Formats: sequence, structure tokens, C-alpha cells
Amino acid sequence: MLVLVINSGSSSLKYQVRDVAAGTVLTDGLIEKIGMGNGGGGDGEIEGPRDHAEALEQVDAAIHAELGDRELGAVGHRVVHGGERFAEPVLVDNEITRAIERLNPLAPLHNPANVLGIRAITRKWPKMPQVAVFDTAFHRTLPEHAWRYAVPDELYTNHGIRRYGFHGTSNEYVARRSAALLDLPVEEFDGVIAHLGNGASVTAIRGGRSVDTSMGFTPLEGLVMGTRSGDLDPSILVFLGRAGWSPEDIDTMLNRESGLKGLAGNNDMRSVVEASESGDDKATMALAVASYRLAKYIGGYHVAVGGARALVFTAGIGENSHQFRTQVADRLGALGIELDGGLNRGRSKEPRVISTPSSAIPVLVVPTDEERAIAEATAAVVSSSR
Ligand code: ADP
Repeated sequence: MLVLVINSGSSSLKYQVRDVAAGTVLTDGLIEKIGMGNGGGGDGEIEGPRDHAEALEQVDAAIHAELGDRELGAVGHRVVHGGERFAEPVLVDNEITRAIERLNPLAPLHNPANVLGIRAITRKWPKMPQVAVFDTAFHRTLPEHAWRYAVPDELYTNHGIRRYGFHGTSNEYVARRSAALLDLPVEEFDGVIAHLGNGASVTAIRGGRSVDTSMGFTPLEGLVMGTRSGDLDPSILVFLGRAGWSPEDIDTMLNRESGLKGLAGNNDMRSVVEASESGDDKATMALAVASYRLAKYIGGYHVAVGGARALVFTAGIGENSHQFRTQVADRLGALGIELDGGLNRGRSKEPRVISTPSSAIPVLVVPTDEERAIAEATAAVVSSSR
């Protein structure tokens, strides 16, 4: 089956056409500046589609040539927030679309854009099966003691304030591939997965299920990220509010000006590592804060899973930065973790072990592929609904 995978943002639309059985990508692309232009072309006109429907026309035109006489079998949407309702991918209909829309307050930047993408497809191809794959769904197995914040119950019952977790699609995929590399059924996989990209989170997996994860009500909680602070004392926000900062000021500071950017002046791990290697003290400190935070979580999650049997690195930093992996592993001596220098520095697109034979547990690098996971989930839902 050919599946069009759509990741619809408020002003961008990322797409990929995949042949699920062959595991290949036929074509992919990114439409940007949606809603910022007026169609482009003429004098003084700004380029960029007017809306998501117009962006979809551009996608259709772009993929047409690649498809030849083959037809799309389904569309899979990456949907950020599935709230408490969605524990797995679902076939989209009007009721599901409205349910996703009702979750808008929980993900005000993301879910409305996802709904625009779904509605654009519904209008253009009314008969096309569409599947929503939720970034939160894999974490629906979190036990209550892990998802509760210790605040009055009313915040949960009236506002849905609890921990949800994100990066679920990636975690589910990486857990499966890690178990396969270790020759285990995924139901027997107990481990810790560190998904380290621009957004970063770490997840505790017990018996193949998520039992804790570092992102919470929003993707802000947890690790030090490219531009997000991760954990801090909530009183800081109260303090800043009293000092005259608006909610928007605080939001911008925590989500866009913090993390590696706040500490080192650069949100890109490669640049921070290079700066540190050429003697930049702030970059060195940023790496220390980020690796220390992650190591603390790994220690905690080792306990949460009842003794991790593997530590897995994935996503841009996790897959590529041997320097950051080394800094994290150096802090995990108490767990008996030991990296093999040569294996750690090696490169491959395949899942691999980077620890020594005497390491207490294997350390793996397992490339993630969210689009592939979404395409596979979409094909599975559509096939089983027939
Ligand atoms: P996103 O969350 O946007 O999907 P990615 O998974 O692409 O992010 O990860 C982006 C991060 O990966 C950036 O911090 C980037 O510097 C880092 N990264 C990518 N390639 C390398 C590399 N070769 N060495 C170190 N860091 C890398």
C-alpha cells in the first residue's frame, strides 16, 4: 500500500509517500509559509500557499509524477495530542476529527494544524481512508503514580492537567527495533530510551510498554533541549509573573530561549560540541548540565523499569553525537555502563551495540523513523478495517 504521511504544522506541511510493503520512500517534501503569502508569483506577491487546502494542491502536484499509475491507498497523519482518549492509531471520521479538535486547548500550536490537514484531505479526497497516529498514545500505559502531578485534583478533572508524554510513535518503533536487536520479543523488553532531537525526552519501558517519560503536560518538561529549559522550579514562573513578565514572555523564554540556546547561545548540538572542544566554557557547561540531567533520569528510570536491560539512544543527537553519548555514559558508572570507544564513534544507519562486552547492560544506537512508523500503523489500521 502507498501511504501519504502528513505532518501538518500551523504554517508548514511535511509529507512523505511511502511504499509500506517495500519499506521505501517514493518522494517527500516540505511546504512552508502556509497562510503567509497570497499564492505568489506576480509583482509584490509573497510566495506561499494561502491555506492548508492550497498547500495540499502543491503536494498533489509534486507527488503526481512520482506515483505514475499507482494510487495512494491511505493518508496517515501525525497528530500531536491524543489526550486520554486515544491509546492507538484510529481511522478518521467526522466524530474523530471533532474529538481531536476538542483537544486543541491541550496542544494549541499543534492540534488545530493537524485538524486543518485532516479536513483539507477530506475535502480533496472524500473517499480516502485517513488514520490519525498520536504522539501521546504510546504513553497511555503510564501508571497513575507516574502521570499525576501532586496538585489539587480539580486541576486534573477540570483542566486535564496531568502528564501525557510525547515522542510516543518514535518510542514504540525504537522499542520494537531494540528488542529485535537483542533477540527478544518486545513484550520482554525492559529498557530506557533517550530520544534526543531538538525536542528531547527519555522513556522508561517495562515489558514493551511505557511506564514513565520525561515530557509531561506539554513537551517542555524534562530534559535540557535545543531551546527548551526542561525541568525547573515552578516558583520561578510565579516570581517572573510578579516581576511583570506576561504569560507570553514566560512561554517564549522557556520554549524558545532556554535549553542549549540559553546556556551556550546555540541550540544546535553539533555547534555546541564544537565550541566546547575549542575551549568555550559556556558550551562545556551546557553539555554538563544536559548530560547530567539525562543521566539522573536514566538512573531513575532504571529503577522504574525494575532494572533496565538496555539503554537506547535515538534521534538526531542520540544517533549522531558520540561526544554527547560519552558524556552521558561517563556519568552512569554506578550502573556499570561502559561504552566501547570505537563502536561509539562508528556510524551506521542500522541499529547497533556501542557498549563493551563487560558493560552491565548493552547500550544501543537505534535510528528512529517516525514517518515509517506512521505509514506502517496507517496501513495496518486500514487493512484491519476492511
Ligand atoms: P527534531 O526534533 O527537529 O526532529 P533531530 O532529531 O533532527 O530533531 O535532531 C536535531 C539535533 O541533532 C540538533 O541538535 C543537531 O545538532 C543534532 N545532530 C544532527 N546531526 C548531528 C551530528 N552529526 N553530530 C551531533 N549532533 C547532531
